[in-house]
Parts: sequence; C-alpha cells; structure tokens
Amino acid sequence: MIAAIEAGQQASDHASVAPGYATHDVFNQAGALADYNAYTDDTPLVEAVKVFGADWAGETLRRAGANVGSEKVQYLARQANRHLPELKTHDRFGNRVDVVEFHPAYHELMGLIYGDETHSFAWTHQDKAGAQVARGALSYMWNQGENGICCPMGMTFASIPALRHDAQLHDEWAPHILKPVYDNRPIYAKQKRGATVGMGMTEKQGGSDLRATITTARPASNRRGSGAPYLITGHKWFFSVPMSDVFLTLAQTEKGLSCFFASGWLPDGTRNRLKIQRLKDKCGNKSNASSEVEFHDLYATMLGDEGRGIRTIIEMAHVTRLDFAIGSSGLMRQALSQAIHHTTNRRAFQRSLVDLPIMRNVVADLAVESEAMMWMSMRLASALDREHADRTEALISRICTPVAKYWACKRAPQFVVEALECHGGNGFIADHLMERLYREAPLNGIWEGTGNVICLDVLRSMQREPETVDAFLAEIRKARGADARLDAFTDEIERRLANLGEFEPVARRVVEMMAFALQGSLLVRHSTPAVADAFCATRLDGDWGRAFGTMPRGLDTQSIVDRARIPAG
Ligand SMILES: Cc1cc2nc3c(=O)[nH]c(=O)nc-3n(C[C@H](O)[C@H](O)[C@H](O)COP(=O)(O)OP(=O)(O)OC[C@H]3O[C@@H](n4cnc5c(N)ncnc54)[C@H](O)[C@@H]3O)c2cc1C
Repeated sequence: MIAAIEAGQQASDHASVAPGYATHDVFNQAGALADYNAYTDDTPLVEAVKVFGADWAGETLRRAGANVGSEKVQYLARQANRHLPELKTHDRFGNRVDVVEFHPAYHELMGLIYGDETHSFAWTHQDKAGAQVARGALSYMWNQGENGICCPMGMTFASIPALRHDAQLHDEWAPHILKPVYDNRPIYAKQKRGATVGMGMTEKQGGSDLRATITTARPASNRRGSGAPYLITGHKWFFSVPMSDVFLTLAQTEKGLSCFFASGWLPDGTRNRLKIQRLKDKCGNKSNASSEVEFHDLYATMLGDEGRGIRTIIEMAHVTRLDFAIGSSGLMRQALSQAIHHTTNRRAFQRSLVDLPIMRNVVADLAVESEAMMWMSMRLASALDREHADRTEALISRICTPVAKYWACKRAPQFVVEALECHGGNGFIADHLMERLYREAPLNGIWEGTGNVICLDVLRSMQREPETVDAFLAEIRKARGADARLDAFTDEIERRLANLGEFEPVARRVVEMMAFALQGSLLVRHSTPAVADAFCATRLDGDWGRAFGTMPRGLDTQSIVDRARIPAG
C-alpha cells in the first residue's frame, strides 16, 4: 500500500511517462534507500556489538534493524513530522483537559520503538554483560528511524537510575515503566499497559544553572523526605512530552532544591494539577511535543534526599548524556547512509558521484567520522554496563560520557550539512529525510548540558577526581605501540592534562582532543587498517583541513566507503 502510494516519487533510473508529459522523463534520480536492515547491514555496528559482548542480543537487534530500515517507518516518520502535535486545552464541553493530540503515525512509531524494548532492554537484561551495549545499539538504530520518538524513549530509559534513589518508588514503578508497550490513553499510568517518563527542569530564568530554580514544593502531610507527598507550584519553560505518564521535576523546599516524581493523571482519572500553556514551535524535532507548563499544587512524591535534587536527577542526566552521544552518532550514521546511497546511484560526468575523487574524499571522511562516533558511543555504553563492578569503568564512564556527548553533538550539524550537500538540491527539499536530519542535528547539543556546560563538567570531574585522568590515559594506551601518531597525540594530551588549573578557557579544545584520542584508540584496536589509518592521519596527525573531504592522498578511501555502505544502497 505504502509502496504503491510512494512509487511515483521513488522512480529510479529511467521511467517512461504518460503522453502529454513528454518532457517529464525521470532518470538519474537515486531513489529511496529503503527496506534494509539497520543492524545486519551496518558492518561496523555489528562488529562493535560483538567486541563489547552484546551479540547474544542479535535477535532483538535484527528485529529493530528491520523496523528502522523499513519503508514503513520512513513513511510514518514523514507523516508524523508533517501532521504536527496539537495542544487541546479544553474538550468540546469546556472542561480543561490539557492533552496533546498526535497524528496516528506518531503513536504507531511509539508502539514500534517501545515494542523493540529500546527504553527498557538494558534494565530488563541487566544481569547479562553487554546489556547496555545492546540497548545502545537499539537507540543508535532508532535515532536513524525517527528522532522525535527518541526523546520520550530516552527519558524513559534514563529514569531508572534516578528512581533507584527511593527503593520503594523504584520497586513500585520500574516494572511498569519497563513494559515493552506504549499505551497512549490519557489516564492514570497504572491503569495503562505501559508508561512513558518525562522530565521538567528548565525554567525561564535559566536551564544550565538549575540552582536558580524558583518552583516551590510544600509538604502535603506531616511526613518529610523521600517518599513523602508534596504539592508543587511553579512554571517550567521547557517540558517535552507533556503527555508523559509520569515525570521527574525539581522544586525548592526549606532545605533547598529537591527532586520529585509526579504522574500526569491521578488515580481518579483527572489530570494532575498542571496546565499546559502552549507547545513550543520548534526548529526541528517536530513530531515530538515540547511545552511550557504551570504546576498549581501538583501532587508529587519526593525522590531522593531533600535538598539534594541535583544529585538525584544527575543520575538521569548522566545516562541521558550517553543516549545523546549515541543519538547524534545514529543521526550521523543515517546522514552517511543517505549520502553514500545518493552518490552511488546518481551519475555526473559519466561516473557515479562517489567515484569522483573529490566526492570520494568527502564521503570517506564522513564514513571515518561516523564510525569513530559509533565506537566511542558503544565503548561508553559498555562502561555503563560494567561501572558497578569495576572502578576503572566507573571512572571512564564518568569522564568520557560527557566527552562523547560534547563531541558527537558538536559534530552532528557540520556532518549533516556536508551529507546534505552530497545530495545537491534534492537534499534541501522538505520531503527528503535529510531536511529532518538537518533541523534535528543541533538539538542534542542543547539538551541535557550545552557544550560549555559539558566541557566544564569534564574539567570539574578531573579536578575533583584525578584518578579519572589516569583511567582515561590508561584506556587510550591500550593501543600503545600500534600507531606512532596516536602515541604522540596521547603524550600531548597527558602534558595538557597535567595542568588542569589553567584549563577553563581552553576546555573545549582539551575535551575535543580527548574525544579524538579515545576514538583513535578504539579505531586502531577494533576497526580496519584503512579506517584507523585515515583517522590517525587526519584527526591526530593534523593532515586535514577545516571541512570534510580534506583528507590527504594515499588513503584507502574505496574500502572506507565500501565498509560503510548499506548493501541495499
Ligand atoms: C526542543 C527542546 C526541548 C527541551 N525539553 C526539555 C525538557 O523536556 N525538560 C527540560 O527540563 N528541559 C528541556 N529543554 C531545555 C534544555 O535542557 C535547556 O534549553 C538547556 O538546559 C539550556 O538551558 P537554557 O536554554 O536556559 O540556556 P542557558 O542556561 O541560558 O545557556 C545559554 C548559553 O550559555 C552557556 N552557559 C551557561 N552557563 C555557562 C557557564 N557557566 N559557562 C559558560 N557558558 C555557560 C550555555 O552553554 C549556552 O550556550 C528543552 C530544550 C529544547 C530546545
């Protein structure tokens, strides 16, 4: 059915046309990259999943890969981004309802991503080594499917570590949150077949400095502290997924900023005491609703120690940051797949575009960048897997997760722009997937810690816990001796990290170097010689310009592109 609807738009090569449109001969159009498997057709991803011990999850990953690569998901994503969510404050009888109405395509996509256990797999399989890596791969793939649904999925995933601050609340809610079911009914969470989780922290006066929060909470009974009921009043300037079944938020009590857990609807079926003021008219991420919301004595339960709200919610933020590194890596992978597909199937000057030497350099450079991001993300998913049992892994997770978040989010916009240009004018047209990727690309860099905030976080971690520097350098040196350029680069970083006191003005530079070193070490150990060589020659040895496509001569760009190619493309 979908194929029939869209067949006309996807004609490739040469299509004959009806009489009367004699000039409208369609040829040399690349057609759509569709009906592939985003897992099994992605060679570097399959290798990373194996290296980090998650190939036991192959069946789940293959199923998700087939979903993400399907023409159906692409169709649904287009629909969900064309027919945008609408705020309905009142029903037709005048009752205040505060609901958001979505196109059915959005709900169908949510059903698919939840059905693939993208929000839950790591926690429901946490007794198995590699569970976070498998979930990381699920998120990596779904960020190639539709980014708007990755926001609710990611917050639901990340809520579990924060919920652990209150064992009772965790045991009561986690099993429900982890069900592989999406249920869109606007009713009390526990009456549903599954639940989504949101997070409302950012206020008008500033999101980076959460201590400036002015929303207040007062006890609703004689009880105080974690697990006790409170009433919250205030305003949140950004509150994505306002249809969340439950959410975490921050408010001031007598003892300072504290974390709270609230449900969107109450057991009696009424809306909890929140009013959605309006939906944000966003630059991208259109299928997902983000709102401004007021709380008027919102019923909530304190989560974690009173006055230690940032400490509680940071558990969620840490995992969300990993998911943004993974998400931006996935976004880049999709842009790359599209660029390779297009440049392979479009011809100019009697050759496929990708075979033109300068274009080959561009596409190969993007492929190196994409693979480096993927390995870094999966390495940190692996660190999260092992951080409770292994102190070094905990230090690596602590220090390198923000490094990966910073660098993947920082590179995504440039990457997408270059991949878009590979498509020529077609990439700039709104019914092409590239347009959505372009609008989405800057977002992960803003959410959950902007670039500066993230770099300062890395700095603070290294100052507070000098062991993190040792753990980081030891990780890089696992590849010592394999490539002289990597060794020299590592020595230079070690020199710079020895002087943390003067770090702040140059924090971005140092964090960027840390990302390069980690990526270089991973590629040298785990990727092909062609990819590792190109990475070391450019990112580490500096034989590279300021745009993509500026790699030096003599690299095996053919094999780099072939390795990244989706066979169906
Ligand atoms: C589409 C979208 C959806 C969102 N959804 C949610 C949501 O669901 N829940 C939620 O809580 N929030 C949400 N946010 C808000 C987001 O988390 C914030 O925008 C972000 O934390 C930054 O806060 P801010 O906008 O107040 O910017 P500011 O904090 O004012 O920062 C502005 C700039 O100043 C820089 N800066 C800040 N402090 C420092 C410093 N100490 N040193 C150097 N530079 C600094 C920042 O890096 C940034 O570049 C969403 C945002 C967007 C765009």
